[in-house]
Amino acid sequence: MDNMTRVLFPGSFDPPTNGHMNLLHRAAKLWDEVEVVIAVNKGKKCTFSAGERLRMMKTLTSDYENVKVTVWDRLIVDYAEKSGARIILRGVRALADFSYEFELSMTNKGLKPNIETIFMPTDPQYFVLRSSGIKEIALFGGDVSAMVPPIVAEALRKKMRRQK
Ligand code: ADP
Repeated sequence: MDNMTRVLFPGSFDPPTNGHMNLLHRAAKLWDEVEVVIAVNKGKKCTFSAGERLRMMKTLTSDYENVKVTVWDRLIVDYAEKSGARIILRGVRALADFSYEFELSMTNKGLKPNIETIFMPTDPQYFVLRSSGIKEIALFGGDVSAMVPPIVAEALRKKMRRQK
């Protein structure tokens, strides 16, 4: 398809939350193809391995015909260039997210001026969902079933049991 629009949705997804899935669901309706790019950053310690995050994301997106999942361990703009994508999608929850996201988009623009970042605000019910907070609740045995998909809740239970 010549005029097909593609968007990259990069992030750590450590683990995927209902907030991520909400954004993805909305993006899949707006663009012809959405590619989730699971960022592997050696300097950032993740709870779930890249393989675990990839498996979870693949399972969670299996019903979407136009969503792909990839793991990438270099700059996102390099992946955009390599794969021919022109748009990077980022979610913003609160004003606090915005300053960080704005800086990141400026950095990316400086690196590759042809690639555009688009911000999409969270839907109100996902306002407070943050992977780091959810992991903390799970570590203390709290119920995260309203915040993450069931397979992620199960993965968190297993992971946290091992960490104790
Ligand atoms: P990163 O470490 O790159 O910020 P995250 O996994 O935290 O990766 O987030 C990936 C993307 O999903 C980011 O654009 C982030 O703003 C967005 N996001 C995370 N949680 C939510 C949410 N509750 N609502 C909307 N967007 C969200």
